[in-house]
Amino acid sequence: MSKFDFGVLIGRFQPLHVGHEHVITRTLEQVERLFVLVGSANVARDPRNPFTYAEREAMLRSAFRHEVAQGRLIIAPIDDHLYSDTAWVTQVQRKVRSLVLEHGNGHGFQNHGLSDFRVALAGYGKDASSYYLKLFPEWENLQVESQYGTFSSSDVRQRYFQRIPEVPAAILSAGVAEFLREFMLGETFKALLEEAEFLAAYPAQWGRGPFVTADAVVVQSGHILLVERGWAPGKGLLALPGGFVNPAERIRDAAIRELREETAISDGKGQIPPAMLASFIEDARTRVFDAPNRSLRGRIITHAFLFRLPERRKLFSVKGGDDAAHAQWYRFGDLSPEMLFEDHWAIIEEMADL
Ligand code: NAD
Repeated sequence: MSKFDFGVLIGRFQPLHVGHEHVITRTLEQVERLFVLVGSANVARDPRNPFTYAEREAMLRSAFRHEVAQGRLIIAPIDDHLYSDTAWVTQVQRKVRSLVLEHGNGHGFQNHGLSDFRVALAGYGKDASSYYLKLFPEWENLQVESQYGTFSSSDVRQRYFQRIPEVPAAILSAGVAEFLREFMLGETFKALLEEAEFLAAYPAQWGRGPFVTADAVVVQSGHILLVERGWAPGKGLLALPGGFVNPAERIRDAAIRELREETAISDGKGQIPPAMLASFIEDARTRVFDAPNRSLRGRIITHAFLFRLPERRKLFSVKGGDDAAHAQWYRFGDLSPEMLFEDHWAIIEEMADL
């Protein structure tokens, strides 16, 4: 009989490696069923999060075929909420509750409540990024010692995203190594490699920061104004209009300037002058977004300004502005997190109360 009815293991698995697999195998020895929650399921691909949820789920399935078939290992996605640990924790609690009720009942646990089950949170506190292991005091901790030293997925990514990619097969299971070998032949790998090279060269050209930027969250009648990025990093992704603050400029003026440059926003009578745009800013909603890893370019701290334009049947007109960016209004309901660059989805969530 296992020590626990259920185990919970949270990870990004970008990609899955034998260190992760060791934790999963050891945990399975102590729990009846293990929920592997795959984090950062809702972010666009980038060199730090190169693989989608579906691809990472397939990696886990290939490494634990039998356990998945027996129903002992259950894989589910978890979205990031970069600026709200509470929202993230709530999501994990809800997901685990529904999985426990789904997989508990029908296995001798009929009509049991959540508190009747013994649940343990598994993990190996590898570094500061494992702080989340302490966010769930209601579950027991199941610490698993690493047998494989301190290598991590980022070591794998570093060796992989090169002109001559290396698939470090010794620390990957056969299915994962095979997936990486196939993936490197496709267009997506090529785009990620270009992005990785751009990011590697960035500090030499610009330094490591901290940099200050300003972003405009412009909303009108259920729509938000976004630009499609025509350049690296994040080519093809949607972003808030915004950019770097000039040395002699107020941060809010930078937001207004970038908004005008990138979208040429106009109200029918011509481009909206800076002072009028400023009058649409809701000062109480101005916020700093400073997650240390929010950009792969370096330490970039941004200030977001909420511009609430008057409700109208005809939205203000916009057109593609500088740097090959293409501006357009988007209905909130048509957007999904993985369409957005860096943490812009998280910023929109916070600023526009989604
Ligand atoms: P990970 O893939 O790096 O690690 C998963 C597990 O395996 C961890 O317990 C880790 O310590 C262990 N592990 C890693 N390398 C190992 C090795 N060599 N040997 C043995 N064990 C090893 O994932 P992570 O970074 O811990 O993932 C956390 C997820 O939770 C991320 O997706 C993160 O975005 C998310 N999260 C989100 C929020 C939020 O949105 N507010 C807050 C906290 C965490």
